[in-house]
Order: sequence, then C-alpha cells, then structure tokens
Amino acid sequence: MIVPYSQENYERLKYVFGIDGYGVGTEVNKDINEIVKTSVDIIKNSNITTESSIEVSVTRKDKSYELTSPEVTHLVLNRIIKEGINVNKKSNTKLMIKIGKKVKIYIIQLHKIYNTRFMNGAGGLPFGITGKVGVMLSGGIDSPVAAWMMMKRGCKPVFIHFHSVDNFNPFTGQGGKIGDILKQLKKYSPDTLTLYAINFKPITKQIVQHVPPSDRLIVYRRYMYRLSEQLLKDENINTLVSGESLAQVASQTLENLSVIDETLGYPYLILRPLIGMDKKEIIALSKHIGIFEHSIKPYDDTCSKFLPKHPTLHANLEQIKSYEKRIGDINIDYKKFKI
Ligand code: ATP
Ligand code: MG
Repeated sequence: MIVPYSQENYERLKYVFGIDGYGVGTEVNKDINEIVKTSVDIIKNSNITTESSIEVSVTRKDKSYELTSPEVTHLVLNRIIKEGINVNKKSNTKLMIKIGKKVKIYIIQLHKIYNTRFMNGAGGLPFGITGKVGVMLSGGIDSPVAAWMMMKRGCKPVFIHFHSVDNFNPFTGQGGKIGDILKQLKKYSPDTLTLYAINFKPITKQIVQHVPPSDRLIVYRRYMYRLSEQLLKDENINTLVSGESLAQVASQTLENLSVIDETLGYPYLILRPLIGMDKKEIIALSKHIGIFEHSIKPYDDTCSKFLPKHPTLHANLEQIKSYEKRIGDINIDYKKFKI
C-alpha cells in the first residue's frame, strides 16, 4: 500500500495497527536508465557517505520485464561504484528495488547507523475488523494496556468507566486523567472513541451498608458488570474486557474471577488479555504505548476508599447473592462522551 509522503503521515504510521513495517520509497517507471539514476539519487540524498558500504537487492516480481534481477543489480552496482560508494554483500544499508506492476525503490538502514527510514509497524490487525468490545477502564495501569491489546487484535473499543466524582468530565478536573489516557489510546484509532462514565456513588453507599468489607470488592465488580449490560446491549456488544492479571493482587484469584463472571451469562464473553502477564511486563507495555505517565497520576478511585486490607480469596457465590438481594436493583446514571 502506498500513501503520499509527508512528515505527518510518516509519524502517524507507527500508530496504525495491521501494518508490519513501513518505509519511505520512490516510485519510478520501468525505464532502466531511470531506475539506475533514481537509485543513485536516493543514495546521494540519504546520509550515506562514500566511506559507507551498501548492499543492493533487486526483486523482479513482473517476470515479463526485459531485464533479470541480476542484470538490474549489475547495472545499479556499476553506477554506485562509479560514484565512489562501497558495495558490500552484508551491509547495514540496503537499497531495495522491487519490480512489479510498478517499480519501487527503497533504502533500508538497519541498526540506526543512519537516519532509519524503514520502521517496524504497530503490527496486529486493522482497527475494527474483528468487532466491537466494551472495555472496563479504571484510571490504573492495567486496563488501558488491556484495551490497547484488544485494539491491536482489530477490536474497536467502547469504554466504560465508573467514577465517584461530582460532574465527571474526561476533559477537566479529576476526570482529566481518564481523558488523557483515552487521548493516548485515540492515536491508535482512526475513529472517535466513546466513553460511558457511570456514577458509582449510589452503589458504593449501598454496598458499604450491606456487604462486609472482605466481600465488597467482588460485589463492586459484579455491579459494574450488571450496570454495563444495558450499555452493551445498546451498543450491540457481547464482549467485555477487563485488566485483571491472575493473582496480581490478592482478590484476583480464579475462584473470585469466576464469581465475578457469573454476573453476565451467555451471550456475554469476558476477556482478560493481561491474565498471564507479570506487572513488570504490563508496565513495560504501558510505557511503550505512552500511557504509563498518565496512569500513575493520583486519582480518587471509585472504591479504593472502601477496600479491605484482606479481601476474600474464595468468594462464595450464594453468600454474595444474598448480599445482593438486600441491595436490589440500582438505576444507572451515566453520561456519554466522544473523544
Ligand atoms: P487497573 O490498573 O486497571 O486499575 P488493578 O490491578 O488495579 O487494575 P482492580 O482495581 O482490581 O485491578 O480492577 C480490575 C479491573 O476491573 C480493572 O483492570 C478494570 O478493567 C476494572 N475496573 C476497576 N475499577 C474500575 C472502574 N472504576 N471503572 C471501570 N472499570 C474498572
Ligand atoms: Mg485499579
């Protein structure tokens, strides 16, 4: 795929999923004189000095082209040698000539010896092609990374955030932290991102009243899932993504996660892309995608104030359901934002 070169396009490409690698190339017509001349011009215009060495590689996909690959290589090499540039079979710098329907000439410089013009792309799959997912986004380190991993696999995310901030707004005040995280994730998305911000205060009050501290976290999560359900239906989504990693914190046990997942049965699918990752690995990814600096800013998390020092490791579903009977249904109070 070819896009017109501009510095802006070049910068943007590293955020486009589905691209394995990209570089700056030049298109010429099939005239051999033009191929040779352009090859030499490209080398001259790059930072390659006469002391450097260069490797030339020609691929002829269009077999009807009158010259073979070795013949084109030979002609280009001769001119390069005449210009006083070294030629080396195993150089850090490669001039690639691809002759297909069109002729494309690239210069690829490895190991950043010169300005690297050929880059690794973001990889993954093109945005949105595998479907839409709901993402439970906290202000922490893990869930934005989980969102990014799903985006990388071609998912379009719809974000759900529970807060206890009066007049929550992702662009100002306390909520600004959530907005900053989303703005960074937006760089990987060609579409605007949707955020549902749900007021969790009324639920928190009820939970504190009816549930003993050790079981609160499980009930919080179950209400988060339950309240998300209507939004998932409205958005025609059956998958909910969260940022748990097995045993990263005491509450993230297999038993607890299964009690949490029980809240939404079929057709909902709960995905936890970080489940097998160490915190160190998650932090490295968070830094790589430019979110870590936002994630570590202070934030008045919804339930952290009421969290017990020793949450249960073995939630009991029947027990949890009995607390929930006392709490009953809670009306959802949410706002929708576009970022
Ligand atoms: P994170 O760093 O993502 O906050 P964590 O290790 O702190 O994760 P928990 O606080 O137990 O873990 O949360 C587990 C997951 O539940 C989060 O990764 C996120 O997907 C979801 N979650 C937690 N709090 C919220 C919230 N306020 N709004 C939306 N989702 C949340
Ligand atoms: Mg958290």
